[in-house]
Parts: sequence; C-alpha cells; structure tokens
Amino acid sequence: MNAHRIAAIPGDGIGREVLPVAQRVLDAVASRHGFELSWNELPWSCSWYAAHGAMMPPDGLDRLRDADAIFLGAIGQPGVPDHISQWGLLIPIRRAFDQYVNLRPVRLLPGLESPLRDCGRFDVAIVRENTEGEYSDVGGRFATPAGDVAVQESIFTRRGCERVLRFAFDLACDRGGRLISATKSNGIMHTMPFWDEVTAEVAAGHPGVDWRRMHIDALAARFITHPEDLDVVVGSSLFGDILSDVAAAVSGSLGVAPSANLDPTGDHPSMFEPVHGSAPDIAGRGVANPIAQVWCGALMLEHLGHPEAAADVLAAIEAVTAEPALRTRDLGGRATTEDVAAALTAALPPTSPLPH
Ligand code: ATP
Repeated sequence: MNAHRIAAIPGDGIGREVLPVAQRVLDAVASRHGFELSWNELPWSCSWYAAHGAMMPPDGLDRLRDADAIFLGAIGQPGVPDHISQWGLLIPIRRAFDQYVNLRPVRLLPGLESPLRDCGRFDVAIVRENTEGEYSDVGGRFATPAGDVAVQESIFTRRGCERVLRFAFDLACDRGGRLISATKSNGIMHTMPFWDEVTAEVAAGHPGVDWRRMHIDALAARFITHPEDLDVVVGSSLFGDILSDVAAAVSGSLGVAPSANLDPTGDHPSMFEPVHGSAPDIAGRGVANPIAQVWCGALMLEHLGHPEAAADVLAAIEAVTAEPALRTRDLGGRATTEDVAAALTAALPPTSPLPH
C-alpha cells in the first residue's frame, strides 16, 4: 500500500488534544482511499525545551528532511517566551525548508455564524510571505545617552517577493480572479514601495487577474465592512499574519482556521498547522475545537496528491458544523473535542469501491 511518511509534532497545550483527532480522521479517510499515513511522532515542544534547553534536538531539521509532510499542532506555553518557542522550532522549519508560502484559506462554514451582522458569503485565501519580511532577526537594542533604543530591520528580497506574489496571482487565476495586495507604502518608505513594484511586475504576467493594492489599515477594515468582496489577499509576513486572525474571527472562530506552510517546488517537506496557538486557557479540558487541525489535514492530503480524500474530509467538516449540537464552546456550543472527533469520523462519506 502507498504510504506517506508524516512527521507529527503535537507540540503544546491543545495541540496535543486536536492533533490526535485529526490523525484519527485522516487515517480513516486514507484507508477508504487506498493509501496509508505512516506517522513519526516527535515530542518537540516547550515541555521538551524545559527538559532539554532547546525546542528540538540539534539534528531536528535533518530528521524532518525526509518526511513527505510535517503535521504540527501548536507551540507555546506560559513561561517560555514566544521568541524562544517560535525561533527555536517554527521559524527554523519554515526557513530551512523554504516554505515560502503560508496559505490560509478562510470561509464561513455551513451553519456557523459570523460575529458580523450581515456577513454574506465569505471565502478568502490569504497568502502570506513566510520566510523573510518583518519577522527578521536583524537589529538589536542599544543604550544611548538619550535612553535605550531598539532597532528591527525588515528584509524584502526580489526573489522572496516575486515567488510569493506569483503563487498568489496563480491562485487567483484558479479561484475568483480577484486579488488584493496588502501594502503600506504611504508610511513605510523602502520595503513597501519595493513590494508594490514587484507586485505590478508579477501582475503584468497575469492579465486575467483583477487586482489592486490596499493599505493594510484600510484592508483590515474591508474585512469587516465588505468581507464578501474578498477573494485572494496577499501580504508580507506581518500583514498576512494579522489579516488571517481577522479573517478567522469573521469566519466564527480561530478554532476553524487552518494554514499550510508550503514549499511549492516540492524540494522540501511542507508543514500544516492551525492558525491558532496552544490556547493554554482551555488546554487539558477536552473542549478545544479540532476542526482547524482537521482542515489542515485536508490541506495536507491535497498537497500529497489525494484531492478526493481531502474533499471527503471537508465534506465531513461541513456536515459537523451544520449541526448545532456539535459546536464547541468557541462556537457558542457545549460539544467536547471528543464529540466532534467522533462525529467527524462518522460523517466521512461511505467508502467508494477502489479501482482494481
Ligand atoms: P499565539 O500567540 O500562538 O497565536 P495566543 O495565546 O495568542 O497564541 P491562541 O492560543 O490561538 O492565541 O488562543 C486565542 C484564543 O482563542 C484563546 O482564548 C483560546 O482559548 C481560543 N482558541 C484558540 N484555538 C482554539 C480552539 N481550537 N478551540 C477553541 N478555542 C480556541
């Protein structure tokens, strides 16, 4: 049987609760479609950091290199500063494996309510640059006679901007044909005009895409005032990060928002992780919503070349969100993680006969 090698990193907090749910659902759908997922469980996390003084072993990246994909829960724990957990695990993985696209599809699932009063159709793909930009380690803190100064540099390369913009414009061609590029060239005077320039160059190669630039502040407001107008939104690391939390909130909850860290060239493993963090406030109580993690699994199956299996997982998610009794607390219900897990597995479409 065709088996894909998946490195599974549950991580911290609710990551350890929602990742096993997704594994159950994915194993069930894989067996229906005639392939297997071979899980390599890795305990790297903030707890691992507490015991070993590092988020992963020195050869951690080498141990991930041969995986077909990386499936991650959530990283972060009170007491471990974010810059240690992020820069010790997530960011090295994204950069070492050139996962330059962070794709965050968000939509209003059947049955779920947006906190916006008049939210009609909401179906947007946020494409976030994932390897450079504002999240850089260039800079420092300096003591000056006038007081302390912190300097943080952003790095925008032509190659980095071009490749993520090209991915976004290609995606717009496959979706609704509309794209908005997030900018702030009225306030940020070097990197943003450069980003805009490269956007125009890439756009010239995609005459079928109806595109425009919007300043990030106006664009954030647009998510609230006209969510139905949005199709593909592309932005730098910081802008994409902020917009995807806004989009998750518009869609009802962070608990349903997936993300894929992609190396579209296929040279390295891609990584699939929910937008949400480890949610220490609800961890260990069995109430976390596993849907974001399960949707990440669907994105992973699609990436591994199993679009029909991915579609089955999405159909199961839609069947579950349509049922009010199956809503977890973040969606205003009282269902437990386990209730949703069982319902998702039960909602998978019946086995179709396999071709011989
Ligand atoms: P990070 O900095 O990693 O994004 P955070 O603490 O800022 O982490 P989250 O961990 O994502 O943010 O949690 C934000 C809020 O959303 C918390 O109140 C948390 O309980 C809730 N939340 C996040 N994910 C889920 C989920 N899967 N199910 C239910 N509630 C969730």
